[in-house]
Amino acid sequence: MEKIPVGILGATGMVGQKFVELLSQHPWFEIVALAASDRSVGKNYEHAMAWSMPTPLCRKIAAMPLSSCLPQLPCAVVFSGLDSSVATDIELSFAQAGYTVISNSSAHRMRADVPLLIPEINSEHLQLLENQQMPGALVTNPNCSVIGITMALKPILDIWGIEALHAVTLQALSGAGYPGVPSMDILDNVIPYIAGEEAKIESEPLKIFGNSCCERILPHSMRISAQCNRVAVADGHLACISIKLKKQATATEILQAWKEFKAEPQQLKLPTAPLTPLIYLEDNKHPQPKLHRHLGLGMSVSIGRLRTCSLLDWKFVLLSHNTVRGAAGCAVLNAELMAVKGYLKPQLIHV
Ligand code: NAP
Repeated sequence: MEKIPVGILGATGMVGQKFVELLSQHPWFEIVALAASDRSVGKNYEHAMAWSMPTPLCRKIAAMPLSSCLPQLPCAVVFSGLDSSVATDIELSFAQAGYTVISNSSAHRMRADVPLLIPEINSEHLQLLENQQMPGALVTNPNCSVIGITMALKPILDIWGIEALHAVTLQALSGAGYPGVPSMDILDNVIPYIAGEEAKIESEPLKIFGNSCCERILPHSMRISAQCNRVAVADGHLACISIKLKKQATATEILQAWKEFKAEPQQLKLPTAPLTPLIYLEDNKHPQPKLHRHLGLGMSVSIGRLRTCSLLDWKFVLLSHNTVRGAAGCAVLNAELMAVKGYLKPQLIHV
Protein backbone atom coordinates (compact mmCIF):
# COMPACT_ATOMS: atom_id res chain seq x y z
CA MET A 1 0.00 0.00 0.00
CA GLU A 2 1.12 3.59 -0.59
CA LYS A 3 2.39 5.18 2.63
CA ILE A 4 0.21 7.82 4.31
CA PRO A 5 2.08 11.15 4.58
CA VAL A 6 2.15 12.49 8.15
CA GLY A 7 3.44 15.51 10.04
CA ILE A 8 4.69 15.84 13.63
CA LEU A 9 3.77 18.89 15.75
CA GLY A 10 6.22 19.50 18.59
CA ALA A 11 8.76 17.34 16.73
CA THR A 12 11.74 18.65 18.73
CA GLY A 13 10.50 17.59 22.20
CA MET A 14 10.86 14.30 24.06
CA VAL A 15 7.65 12.85 22.64
CA GLY A 16 8.25 14.45 19.23
CA GLN A 17 11.65 12.75 18.98
CA LYS A 18 10.09 9.40 19.90
CA PHE A 19 7.55 9.97 17.10
CA VAL A 20 10.41 10.60 14.69
CA GLU A 21 12.16 7.42 15.84
CA LEU A 22 9.02 5.25 15.54
CA LEU A 23 7.69 6.75 12.31
CA SER A 24 10.93 7.01 10.31
CA GLN A 25 10.83 3.22 9.74
CA HIS A 26 7.05 2.77 9.79
CA PRO A 27 5.53 0.48 7.13
CA TRP A 28 2.32 2.56 6.68
CA PHE A 29 3.29 6.18 7.46
CA GLU A 30 5.89 8.53 6.01
CA ILE A 31 7.09 11.69 7.75
CA VAL A 32 6.74 14.64 5.36
CA ALA A 33 6.64 17.57 7.81
CA LEU A 34 8.14 18.50 11.17
CA ALA A 35 6.87 21.50 13.13
CA ALA A 36 7.72 23.23 16.40
CA SER A 37 7.86 26.70 17.98
CA ASP A 38 9.26 29.90 16.46
CA ARG A 39 12.51 29.08 18.30
CA SER A 40 13.00 26.16 15.91
CA VAL A 41 11.27 27.21 12.67
CA GLY A 42 13.62 27.37 9.66
CA LYS A 43 16.40 25.33 11.30
CA ASN A 44 17.21 21.85 10.03
CA TYR A 45 15.83 19.23 12.41
CA GLU A 46 19.28 18.09 13.59
CA HIS A 47 20.16 21.66 14.63
CA ALA A 48 16.83 22.40 16.33
CA MET A 49 17.02 19.84 19.14
CA ALA A 50 19.33 17.64 21.21
CA TRP A 51 18.64 14.13 19.80
CA SER A 52 18.03 11.93 22.87
CA MET A 53 16.83 8.68 21.28
CA PRO A 54 18.87 5.44 21.44
CA THR A 55 18.85 4.92 17.64
CA PRO A 56 20.75 7.20 15.22
CA LEU A 57 18.77 9.94 13.47
CA CYS A 58 18.45 9.14 9.74
CA ARG A 59 20.05 11.64 7.35
CA LYS A 60 16.84 12.44 5.47
CA ILE A 61 14.98 13.49 8.64
CA ALA A 62 18.04 15.27 10.08
CA ALA A 63 18.08 17.59 7.07
CA MET A 64 14.34 18.41 7.10
CA PRO A 65 13.56 22.06 7.91
CA LEU A 66 11.21 22.82 10.83
CA SER A 67 7.87 24.42 9.90
CA SER A 68 5.51 26.58 11.97
CA CYS A 69 2.60 24.82 13.69
CA LEU A 70 0.15 26.27 11.18
CA PRO A 71 -2.37 24.09 9.30
CA GLN A 72 -0.45 24.37 6.03
CA LEU A 73 1.56 21.15 6.19
CA PRO A 74 1.62 18.83 3.12
CA CYS A 75 -0.29 15.97 4.73
CA ALA A 76 -3.73 15.22 6.21
CA VAL A 77 -2.62 13.43 9.39
CA VAL A 78 -0.58 15.00 12.19
CA PHE A 79 0.78 13.52 15.40
CA SER A 80 1.06 16.02 18.23
CA GLY A 81 3.76 16.09 20.90
CA LEU A 82 3.01 19.75 21.64
CA ASP A 83 3.46 21.31 25.01
CA SER A 84 0.00 21.29 26.65
CA SER A 85 0.08 25.07 27.15
CA VAL A 86 -0.10 25.62 23.36
CA ALA A 87 -1.78 22.42 22.20
CA THR A 88 -5.38 23.56 22.84
CA ASP A 89 -5.47 26.18 20.09
CA ILE A 90 -2.97 24.66 17.67
CA GLU A 91 -4.54 21.18 17.62
CA LEU A 92 -8.01 22.68 17.21
CA SER A 93 -6.85 24.86 14.31
CA PHE A 94 -5.54 21.74 12.52
CA ALA A 95 -8.75 19.75 13.13
CA GLN A 96 -10.83 22.69 11.96
CA ALA A 97 -8.73 22.90 8.81
CA GLY A 98 -9.51 19.25 7.99
CA TYR A 99 -6.50 17.44 9.50
CA THR A 100 -6.78 14.31 11.61
CA VAL A 101 -4.90 15.16 14.82
CA ILE A 102 -3.60 12.31 16.97
CA SER A 103 -2.46 13.94 20.18
CA ASN A 104 -0.50 13.17 23.33
CA SER A 105 -1.26 16.39 25.09
CA SER A 106 -3.83 16.69 27.87
CA ALA A 107 -5.49 19.67 26.19
CA HIS A 108 -8.54 17.93 24.68
CA ARG A 109 -8.51 14.58 26.54
CA MET A 110 -11.67 15.19 28.58
CA ARG A 111 -13.75 16.82 25.81
CA ALA A 112 -17.00 14.88 25.50
CA ASP A 113 -16.59 14.36 21.73
CA VAL A 114 -12.91 13.29 21.84
CA PRO A 115 -11.91 9.62 22.21
CA LEU A 116 -9.35 9.00 24.99
CA LEU A 117 -8.07 5.96 23.21
CA ILE A 118 -6.03 2.89 24.13
CA PRO A 119 -6.58 0.38 21.31
CA GLU A 120 -6.37 -2.62 23.67
CA ILE A 121 -9.10 -1.15 25.89
CA ASN A 122 -11.71 1.07 24.27
CA SER A 123 -11.52 1.00 20.48
CA GLU A 124 -15.33 1.42 20.38
CA HIS A 125 -14.84 5.00 21.68
CA LEU A 126 -13.71 5.91 18.15
CA GLN A 127 -17.45 6.25 17.45
CA LEU A 128 -17.23 9.64 19.20
CA LEU A 129 -15.58 10.94 16.04
CA GLU A 130 -19.01 10.87 14.38
CA ASN A 131 -20.09 13.64 16.83
CA GLN A 132 -17.18 15.99 16.18
CA GLN A 133 -18.39 19.15 14.48
CA MET A 134 -15.19 19.77 12.51
CA PRO A 135 -13.96 18.82 9.05
CA GLY A 136 -10.98 16.94 10.50
CA ALA A 137 -10.78 14.86 13.66
CA LEU A 138 -9.19 14.93 17.10
CA VAL A 139 -8.12 11.77 18.96
CA THR A 140 -6.05 11.74 22.15
CA ASN A 141 -4.14 9.20 24.16
CA PRO A 142 -4.21 9.25 27.95
CA ASN A 143 -1.60 10.41 30.44
CA CYS A 144 1.60 8.31 30.42
CA SER A 145 1.02 6.69 33.85
CA VAL A 146 -2.68 6.16 33.17
CA ILE A 147 -1.96 4.05 30.07
CA GLY A 148 0.10 1.44 31.97
CA ILE A 149 -2.30 1.38 34.91
CA THR A 150 -5.47 0.95 32.83
CA MET A 151 -3.85 -1.72 30.63
CA ALA A 152 -3.05 -3.84 33.70
CA LEU A 153 -6.53 -3.28 35.14
CA LYS A 154 -8.50 -4.02 31.96
CA PRO A 155 -8.70 -7.85 32.20
CA ILE A 156 -9.40 -7.64 35.95
CA LEU A 157 -12.16 -5.10 35.40
CA ASP A 158 -13.77 -7.21 32.68
CA ILE A 159 -13.94 -10.36 34.83
CA TRP A 160 -14.40 -9.18 38.44
CA GLY A 161 -15.20 -5.46 38.31
CA ILE A 162 -13.24 -2.84 40.28
CA GLU A 163 -14.66 -0.66 43.08
CA ALA A 164 -11.56 1.27 44.14
CA LEU A 165 -8.00 1.92 43.01
CA HIS A 166 -5.06 3.42 44.89
CA ALA A 167 -1.95 4.27 42.85
CA VAL A 168 1.48 5.54 43.90
CA THR A 169 3.69 6.38 40.91
CA LEU A 170 7.47 6.75 40.59
CA GLN A 171 7.83 8.64 37.34
CA ALA A 172 10.85 9.00 35.09
CA LEU A 173 12.58 12.23 34.12
CA SER A 174 11.72 12.03 30.40
CA GLY A 175 8.10 12.44 31.47
CA ALA A 176 8.91 16.07 32.23
CA GLY A 177 10.08 16.76 28.65
CA TYR A 178 13.40 18.28 27.63
CA PRO A 179 15.42 19.70 29.40
CA GLY A 180 12.96 18.83 32.18
CA VAL A 181 13.78 18.81 35.89
CA PRO A 182 17.08 20.57 36.81
CA SER A 183 19.78 18.00 37.69
CA MET A 184 20.49 19.72 41.05
CA ASP A 185 16.85 19.17 42.04
CA ILE A 186 16.62 15.49 41.18
CA LEU A 187 20.07 13.93 41.74
CA ASP A 188 20.13 12.15 45.13
CA ASN A 189 16.46 12.96 45.45
CA VAL A 190 12.77 12.14 44.95
CA ILE A 191 10.26 14.94 44.38
CA PRO A 192 6.85 14.01 45.83
CA TYR A 193 4.84 16.23 43.51
CA ILE A 194 4.17 16.43 39.75
CA ALA A 195 1.85 19.27 38.80
CA GLY A 196 -1.54 18.10 37.56
CA GLU A 197 -0.58 14.42 37.50
CA GLU A 198 -2.68 13.10 40.38
CA ALA A 199 -5.85 14.72 39.00
CA LYS A 200 -5.23 13.04 35.62
CA ILE A 201 -4.80 9.60 37.21
CA GLU A 202 -7.95 10.14 39.26
CA SER A 203 -10.11 11.20 36.28
CA GLU A 204 -8.87 9.73 32.98
CA PRO A 205 -9.45 6.01 33.79
CA LEU A 206 -13.13 6.80 34.44
CA LYS A 207 -13.50 8.03 30.84
CA ILE A 208 -11.33 5.24 29.36
CA PHE A 209 -13.40 2.54 31.13
CA GLY A 210 -16.68 4.38 30.53
CA ASN A 211 -19.48 2.95 28.40
CA SER A 212 -20.31 4.64 25.12
CA CYS A 213 -24.01 5.39 25.25
CA CYS A 214 -26.20 7.87 23.36
CA GLU A 215 -23.22 9.52 21.61
CA ARG A 216 -21.31 10.10 24.83
CA ILE A 217 -19.25 8.26 27.43
CA LEU A 218 -20.82 7.42 30.78
CA PRO A 219 -17.86 7.49 33.19
CA HIS A 220 -16.99 4.39 35.21
CA SER A 221 -17.89 4.61 38.91
CA MET A 222 -14.68 3.31 40.57
CA ARG A 223 -13.08 5.50 43.25
CA ILE A 224 -9.46 6.45 42.58
CA SER A 225 -6.76 8.00 44.75
CA ALA A 226 -3.27 8.74 43.39
CA GLN A 227 0.08 10.03 44.67
CA CYS A 228 2.84 10.89 42.18
CA ASN A 229 6.60 11.16 42.62
CA ARG A 230 9.40 12.19 40.24
CA VAL A 231 12.45 9.90 40.54
CA ALA A 232 15.95 9.95 39.05
CA VAL A 233 15.24 7.38 36.31
CA ALA A 234 15.62 8.25 32.62
CA ASP A 235 12.64 6.36 31.12
CA GLY A 236 9.91 4.13 32.54
CA HIS A 237 7.13 4.94 34.99
CA LEU A 238 6.59 2.52 37.88
CA ALA A 239 3.23 2.35 39.70
CA CYS A 240 2.36 0.59 42.99
CA ILE A 241 -1.29 -0.36 42.75
CA SER A 242 -3.93 -1.52 45.25
CA ILE A 243 -7.43 -2.47 44.09
CA LYS A 244 -10.77 -3.42 45.61
CA LEU A 245 -12.76 -5.81 43.43
CA LYS A 246 -16.52 -6.21 43.06
CA LYS A 247 -16.27 -10.03 43.08
CA GLN A 248 -13.67 -12.26 44.73
CA ALA A 249 -10.74 -13.50 42.68
CA THR A 250 -7.77 -15.75 43.42
CA ALA A 251 -4.14 -14.94 42.57
CA THR A 252 -4.04 -17.81 40.09
CA GLU A 253 -7.10 -16.44 38.29
CA ILE A 254 -5.68 -12.91 38.10
CA LEU A 255 -2.34 -14.19 36.78
CA GLN A 256 -4.23 -16.25 34.19
CA ALA A 257 -6.29 -13.21 33.12
CA TRP A 258 -3.12 -11.15 32.58
CA LYS A 259 -1.43 -14.00 30.70
CA GLU A 260 -4.35 -14.52 28.34
CA PHE A 261 -5.02 -10.84 27.71
CA LYS A 262 -5.03 -9.99 24.00
CA ALA A 263 -7.16 -7.40 22.24
CA GLU A 264 -7.99 -5.92 18.83
CA PRO A 265 -4.46 -4.65 18.01
CA GLN A 266 -3.06 -8.17 18.50
CA GLN A 267 -5.90 -9.78 16.50
CA LEU A 268 -5.45 -7.24 13.69
CA LYS A 269 -1.64 -7.66 13.87
CA LEU A 270 -1.14 -3.88 13.85
CA PRO A 271 2.56 -3.09 13.22
CA THR A 272 3.13 -1.38 16.60
CA ALA A 273 1.05 -3.82 18.67
CA PRO A 274 3.12 -5.90 21.11
CA LEU A 275 2.56 -9.66 20.83
CA THR A 276 2.09 -9.77 24.61
CA PRO A 277 0.53 -6.56 25.98
CA LEU A 278 0.90 -7.63 29.64
CA ILE A 279 3.93 -9.52 30.91
CA TYR A 280 3.97 -10.90 34.48
CA LEU A 281 7.46 -11.25 35.99
CA GLU A 282 7.84 -13.83 38.77
CA ASP A 283 10.97 -12.41 40.48
CA ASN A 284 10.00 -10.31 43.53
CA LYS A 285 12.52 -7.64 42.53
CA HIS A 286 10.83 -7.07 39.14
CA PRO A 287 9.73 -5.08 37.19
CA GLN A 288 12.53 -2.49 37.12
CA PRO A 289 12.76 0.48 34.71
CA LYS A 290 16.37 -0.26 33.70
CA LEU A 291 15.68 -3.93 32.95
CA HIS A 292 12.13 -4.10 31.63
CA ARG A 293 11.07 -0.81 29.99
CA HIS A 294 11.97 -2.12 26.52
CA LEU A 295 9.88 -5.30 26.71
CA GLY A 296 7.69 -5.59 23.61
CA LEU A 297 9.78 -2.77 22.06
CA GLY A 298 8.50 -0.51 24.85
CA MET A 299 4.83 -1.34 24.13
CA SER A 300 4.30 -4.10 26.73
CA VAL A 301 3.36 -3.33 30.32
CA SER A 302 5.30 -5.43 32.83
CA ILE A 303 3.71 -6.44 36.11
CA GLY A 304 5.06 -8.07 39.26
CA ARG A 305 4.56 -8.74 42.97
CA LEU A 306 0.87 -9.67 42.95
CA ARG A 307 -0.17 -10.21 46.58
CA THR A 308 -3.11 -9.63 48.91
CA CYS A 309 -3.67 -6.15 50.30
CA SER A 310 -4.81 -5.77 53.91
CA LEU A 311 -6.69 -2.52 53.14
CA LEU A 312 -8.19 -3.27 49.71
CA ASP A 313 -8.10 -6.75 48.05
CA TRP A 314 -4.97 -7.04 45.86
CA LYS A 315 -1.78 -5.11 45.27
CA PHE A 316 0.93 -5.27 42.60
CA VAL A 317 3.60 -3.21 40.82
CA LEU A 318 3.62 -2.28 37.13
CA LEU A 319 6.01 -0.59 34.74
CA SER A 320 5.46 1.06 31.36
CA HIS A 321 7.76 3.00 29.05
CA ASN A 322 6.41 6.54 29.31
CA THR A 323 7.48 7.92 25.92
CA VAL A 324 6.66 4.69 24.00
CA ARG A 325 3.56 2.92 25.44
CA GLY A 326 2.75 6.05 27.44
CA ALA A 327 2.97 8.53 24.57
CA ALA A 328 4.25 8.24 20.98
CA GLY A 329 3.88 4.45 20.68
CA CYS A 330 0.27 4.57 21.89
CA ALA A 331 -0.49 7.41 19.45
CA VAL A 332 1.03 5.47 16.53
CA LEU A 333 -1.02 2.41 17.53
CA ASN A 334 -4.11 4.65 17.66
CA ALA A 335 -3.36 5.80 14.11
CA GLU A 336 -2.88 2.21 12.90
CA LEU A 337 -6.23 1.20 14.39
CA MET A 338 -7.88 4.24 12.81
CA ALA A 339 -6.33 3.39 9.42
CA VAL A 340 -7.69 -0.16 9.56
CA LYS A 341 -11.14 1.07 10.62
CA GLY A 342 -11.31 3.73 7.89
CA TYR A 343 -10.96 6.76 10.20
CA LEU A 344 -7.72 8.05 8.65
CA LYS A 345 -8.25 10.12 5.53
CA PRO A 346 -4.98 10.34 3.57
CA GLN A 347 -6.31 13.42 1.73
CA LEU A 348 -7.09 16.72 3.43
CA ILE A 349 -10.83 17.39 3.76
CA HIS A 350 -11.12 21.07 2.93
CA VAL A 351 -13.56 23.28 4.77
P1 NAP B 1 8.86 18.86 25.54
O1 NAP B 1 10.06 18.00 25.48
O2 NAP B 1 8.92 20.06 26.41
O3 NAP B 1 8.47 19.30 24.04
C1 NAP B 1 7.51 20.30 23.79
C2 NAP B 1 7.36 20.55 22.29
O4 NAP B 1 6.38 21.60 22.12
C3 NAP B 1 8.64 21.04 21.59
O5 NAP B 1 8.70 20.48 20.31
C4 NAP B 1 8.43 22.55 21.50
O6 NAP B 1 9.11 23.13 20.39
C5 NAP B 1 6.93 22.60 21.26
N1 NAP B 1 6.40 23.92 21.61
C6 NAP B 1 6.51 24.59 22.78
N2 NAP B 1 5.94 25.82 22.69
C7 NAP B 1 5.44 25.90 21.43
C8 NAP B 1 4.74 26.91 20.71
N3 NAP B 1 4.42 28.11 21.28
N4 NAP B 1 4.38 26.68 19.42
C9 NAP B 1 4.69 25.48 18.85
N5 NAP B 1 5.38 24.50 19.45
C10 NAP B 1 5.74 24.70 20.74
O7 NAP B 1 7.58 18.04 26.04
P2 NAP B 1 7.28 16.46 25.89
O8 NAP B 1 7.70 15.73 27.10
O9 NAP B 1 7.73 15.99 24.56
O10 NAP B 1 5.69 16.44 25.95
C11 NAP B 1 4.90 16.84 24.84
C12 NAP B 1 3.43 16.63 25.14
O11 NAP B 1 3.17 15.24 25.36
C13 NAP B 1 2.96 17.36 26.42
O12 NAP B 1 1.66 17.82 26.20
C14 NAP B 1 3.01 16.27 27.48
O13 NAP B 1 2.11 16.50 28.52
C15 NAP B 1 2.59 15.04 26.66
N6 NAP B 1 3.11 13.76 27.15
C16 NAP B 1 4.42 13.61 27.47
C17 NAP B 1 4.89 12.37 27.90
C18 NAP B 1 6.34 12.13 28.26
O14 NAP B 1 6.65 11.03 28.76
N7 NAP B 1 7.24 13.08 28.04
C19 NAP B 1 4.03 11.30 28.00
C20 NAP B 1 2.67 11.48 27.66
C21 NAP B 1 2.23 12.72 27.24
P3 NAP B 1 10.53 23.92 20.57
O15 NAP B 1 11.59 22.87 20.74
O16 NAP B 1 10.66 24.66 19.27
O17 NAP B 1 10.39 24.80 21.76
